[in-house]
Amino acid sequence: MSGVPQSNPQKTFYLETFGCQMNVHDSEKVVGTLIQEGYRQVEAVEQADLILYNTCSIRDKAEQKVFHRLADYKKLQAQGKKFGVLGCVAQQEGEKIFERAPHVSLVCGSASYNKLPDMLVKLEGVSGALPPETPRAARKDAALRDDAFIEPETGVGSIDAHPAKTAQGGAASALADRAFGPMDSRGRLSPHQTGNLVRITGLDDRQTDKCFETEFTARTNPHRGYITIIEGCDKFCAYCVVPFTRGKERSRTSESVLAEARQIADLGYSEIQLLGQNVNSYKDPAGKQSFAELLAAVGEVPGIKRVRFTTSHPRDFGRDIIEAIDAVPTLCDHVHLPVQSGSTRVLDAMQRLYSREQYMERIAWMKSAKREISITTDVIVGFPGETEADFAETLGLLDEVGYDGVFTFKYSPRPNTPALGLEDAIPEEEKSRRLEVLMARQREIQIARYRKYIGTRCEVMVEGHNEARGQWIGRTSHNKTLNFTADQAPKIGTYAQVQVTGSFPNSLLGEMVV
Ligand code: SAM
Ligand code: SF4
Repeated sequence: MSGVPQSNPQKTFYLETFGCQMNVHDSEKVVGTLIQEGYRQVEAVEQADLILYNTCSIRDKAEQKVFHRLADYKKLQAQGKKFGVLGCVAQQEGEKIFERAPHVSLVCGSASYNKLPDMLVKLEGVSGALPPETPRAARKDAALRDDAFIEPETGVGSIDAHPAKTAQGGAASALADRAFGPMDSRGRLSPHQTGNLVRITGLDDRQTDKCFETEFTARTNPHRGYITIIEGCDKFCAYCVVPFTRGKERSRTSESVLAEARQIADLGYSEIQLLGQNVNSYKDPAGKQSFAELLAAVGEVPGIKRVRFTTSHPRDFGRDIIEAIDAVPTLCDHVHLPVQSGSTRVLDAMQRLYSREQYMERIAWMKSAKREISITTDVIVGFPGETEADFAETLGLLDEVGYDGVFTFKYSPRPNTPALGLEDAIPEEEKSRRLEVLMARQREIQIARYRKYIGTRCEVMVEGHNEARGQWIGRTSHNKTLNFTADQAPKIGTYAQVQVTGSFPNSLLGEMVV
């Protein structure tokens, strides 16, 4: 990060994100919150006063990463740097993190992000990092000067104002009061210290009805804007830690979502991706719009050329979504519909709440759509009790659906989940074998599916340039990567027509047509 004078008294922070798109977007909002609170983002751990990790615990491997990172940088505590763990591992492990990594000062689950401003004040109270007399508004102004902007990954960044204000002051302070104890005479929360160690937690909000709506979102992609429409999950699939880490399901009002969509369209974004662990169970608290209606309304926002959504749950996936895709051209020709297994017996054990037949009914709806819809999915292999016959059913399902992409996972036992109590664990080697067989089968399917595009013309959003190959990187409405050459350089973020000339298992090749 450059452009900020060394004498700048601002506190600095470094944030690394692990895991899914929800986490990536949560981080954009966390960064917005920190900037609003007078912090400045830096790109190296060594430059930061506060080091934050936004974590994922969907599988054991993801969870271990954060502890490795914390161990790697522990020595920096001697320089007065503070460490915070956010997200799913924070919520799952809670105060145990302080035992495993005593240099951590802040542990905050995603359902408690609304309290971050108060937690930061508490951290500052301990370090005295920001001048105590600096009012929050003045710190916000400082954060909004050009020199305080974060440096985006893509080179052209923006910080946009969010329509809904974060509840601060009264309500947040009252909540914080309960969580952390009384405020001192300066209006700061009294820090809870053990010797020299500060312990701040935000872990008790999983029953909240509030979504994390920030005044500012520090978006890292200047063309595709992510908008959370629903947080948490009430599905409790037997293998999944998400309902325990992200808390109960809660939706934003359609009004608030649409206001954010209009706002980012005004800022020049042309693609929107609606996010949630299960977007199909969206329930407008104001009772105005269903998910399909909201999707269509976002697609009709002036300036928006593409709308995507993820993730869908087969149980809640209605035909009205396909009708919306048929009716609104800006809705992309792609649906990600995780199946997890092709065996109804395993789906029952997973508590997925649908059968293979019901899943295939949804696939039939998609296949009867006016436009060809590209379908992708998630599959877990080696769930406890999965027999060779169950696995064969999953392979058969891949052939029957003809997926355009499959995200494959080996079952990983997670804390608190019902599947932990199941017998007949599948040995690791067998899980690995099934994973390889599945991936090989899907590769063949994709080779055939991608080959069909040769000779067609696709519109792509230009996402980047590969210097080494002399190719531009584009994305189709079907969510396929289409690398192409062009006589005249297209601008990143614009749309181009590309003639497809070749295909690979995971990408297409083409030439821009003028
Ligand atoms: N909410 C989405 C859904 O219902 O599919 C996605 C949740 S999760 C972030 C993404 C994927 O991780 C899941 O679809 C599932 O395939 C995989 N997953 C979740 N828990 C897992 C576990 N314990 N072991 C292996 N894979 C898991
Ligand atoms: Fe996890 Fe199931 Fe909820 Fe998806 S729907 S987040 S897999 S519990």
